[in-house]
Amino acid sequence: MKWLITGASGQLGVALQEELTIRGIDFIATNSSELDVTKPLIVSQVVDLIKPTVIVNAAAWTDVDGAELNKSAAYSVNSLGPQNLAIAANKVGARLVQISTDYIFSGEASVPWSETATHNPQSVYGSTKSDGENFVLTALPSKSYVIRTAWLYSSTGKNFAKTMADLALSNAGDVNVVNDQIGQPTSSADLAKQIVELVKSEAAAGIYHGTNSGQATWFEFAQEIFTLVGADVSRIIPVSASEFPRPAKRPVYSVLGHDAWAGTTVPAMRNWRIALEQAVPAIISAVRAEE
Ligand code: NDP
Repeated sequence: MKWLITGASGQLGVALQEELTIRGIDFIATNSSELDVTKPLIVSQVVDLIKPTVIVNAAAWTDVDGAELNKSAAYSVNSLGPQNLAIAANKVGARLVQISTDYIFSGEASVPWSETATHNPQSVYGSTKSDGENFVLTALPSKSYVIRTAWLYSSTGKNFAKTMADLALSNAGDVNVVNDQIGQPTSSADLAKQIVELVKSEAAAGIYHGTNSGQATWFEFAQEIFTLVGADVSRIIPVSASEFPRPAKRPVYSVLGHDAWAGTTVPAMRNWRIALEQAVPAIISAVRAEE
């Protein structure tokens, strides 16, 4: 197998490189200056030159609020980028893993979202990611995986877990955290492992939910981080999302169901608390190194 990773300097891109290196799998990792997924000719030429057997598209416009004001740019990266990759993958016979998001759903639910639930995005980001899914599944129906994830964290880049670990370590007083949005904190390392397992298993093409199991509010996620860091949990104050008005609407209920894994040889991802406990030492080291 030869893998091509786009968006390689992002959170998931870095985690994928680590996972493939551990397993001794041959890969080429590209950042946006090496392979801009919005450019169809370049995508086609690079894919034709490398001739990968597997492409993982970890590239995305992930600035959710910024997308509201930059719809065309977000559409280029999140919708046309996956389409360009799917067309190029088709030409060389490669499989394509497209990473998607809980934001393709409305967020109005009280039971986990099924893989087959209807898209109803409430933001530009969600809408562009939804189009990206559809383009990939249309252009490469028998050779594509759409893996939806949510609430990703790792020791690289900027994310909620690192911000909370930083606040926990800094003794900076009380921290207000939203307690009326529910989702699944997800380890980028766990997701990278899951992607590799899925591809290796030769499971049927289609949609899978790549989130750690269980559920939490942002407040509960923050409490767990403070506990693992050894900080005073009472410093975290639960608040409503209405106290943090933002340009893009956030889903209230984002828990993703894991039924599709039952049709594969790969188990659904483990509970988020276990994954977080394993990830926190590296997060603490990263936060200290960045001080
Ligand atoms: P990051 O923002 O950490 O990384 C995204 C990467 O995409 C960046 O390194 C960026 O590179 C690259 N990129 C942007 N534009 C282009 C382009 N035109 N061509 C090539 N590369 C480009 O994202 P994550 O790793 O957190 O996210 C990975 C995937 O997971 C994405 O599909 C995202 O939509 C999805 N997701 C993420 C969630 C999260 O909580 N983070 C939640 C749900 C889904 P550069 O910096 O060089 O521009």
